[in-house]
Parts: sequence; structure tokens; C-alpha cells
Amino acid sequence: MAERTYIMVKPDGVDRGLVGEVIKRFENKGFQLLALELQKPSREHLEKHYSDLSAKPFFAGLINYMTSGPVVRNLLMITYDNAIQLRKKQTPLEVAMVWQGKGVVKAGRVLLGETNPLASLPGTIRGDFAIDVGRNICHGSDSVESAEKEIALWFPNGVLSHKRVTDSLIYE
Ligand code: UDP
Ligand code: MG
Repeated sequence: MAERTYIMVKPDGVDRGLVGEVIKRFENKGFQLLALELQKPSREHLEKHYSDLSAKPFFAGLINYMTSGPVVRNLLMITYDNAIQLRKKQTPLEVAMVWQGKGVVKAGRVLLGETNPLASLPGTIRGDFAIDVGRNICHGSDSVESAEKEIALWFPNGVLSHKRVTDSLIYE
């Protein structure tokens, strides 16, 4: 199977309107988009996604960051006295993507930049758009094995596989 990676725009990247920037860089490079979805993951889902890091001191902060988001107001009717309660809830929004291409896992990490944005060169996504490690706007799988695990977690119904007409212009 062709190499695939899991790329995600985190809630700060979605809120800041940087989804297009991330997509553009993978498209410009020549990688192929196989799946894309705006998702509202649960805390449990994100804990699973980052389960390898559960012993790290920054884990709780990371999960809070990943579950942060716009406040959604739900109007709740209480019928017995006709009162209306206002319930506020933070809704995390992440853009989940699968990209395919030769060497896409490693090259995807190069496009993203270093984990710490201040250590990332200009020209990388984190280098161009972020400062703090806990607000680094995007995620990319670190190996082919974790990519396949993450793709299965975020796209449990599978993703399309298709042959591009342009492949012969991008690969020799
Ligand atoms: N992170 C953090 N503090 C750290 C290291 C990581 O807040 O000291 C966050 C950061 O958002 C990072 C995520 O945890 O993107 C996952 O960490 P990992 O080491 O897997 O970095 P990545 O693969 O995202 O570059
Ligand atoms: Mg990682």
C-alpha cells in the first residue's frame, strides 16, 4: 500500500483560520488528499490518540488544549416551570486529514516543523504560524506504524484510495 500519514489541524489552528494554509502546503508539495473531516472528538478519543504520552508531565495540559474550543450555547427548556437555562459548553474542533505519497510521513513532519515552534524554521507551518509548544496548531504522525493506527482511530470507516491522473507528473 502507498505510504499514508495522519495530519490534523488542532483547535487553535482551526479557530485561527489556518486550515487552508496546512492543506495548501501538502497540496503544493504534490501529496494526495485521501480524507478530510471537521471532527468534534471526545476527551477519551484524544486521550487514546495521545496514549503514548500519558506519563508525560504536559499530558493534562495537552488534553485540555486539544479539547479547547469555541463556546457553544445550548438553550435548555425546563417544562415544569417554563424557565430557560443557558448551558455553555466548550466544543473542540479539529480537522482530521489523511495524506498519501512517497515518504509522506517524514516529509509531512518536515512541512510541519519542530514540536517547539520557536525552534522551527520559517517556511515550516509551525515556524511561520506559532510560538508556544502547547499551541503549535498541527499534528503529524511520527512513523508509518503510528500513522496507520491514527488513521484507523480518526477514520474508523476507512478512507478512499484512488489513482490520480497527475501522478505521472509528480513521480518519475
Ligand atoms: N507538547 C507540549 N509540551 C511538550 C511537548 C509536547 O505541550 O513539552 C505538546 C505539543 O502540542 C505537541 C504534542 O504535545 O505537539 C505532542 O507531543 P509530541 O512529542 O508527539 O510532538 P509532535 O509529534 O506533535 O511534534
Ligand atoms: Mg507526536
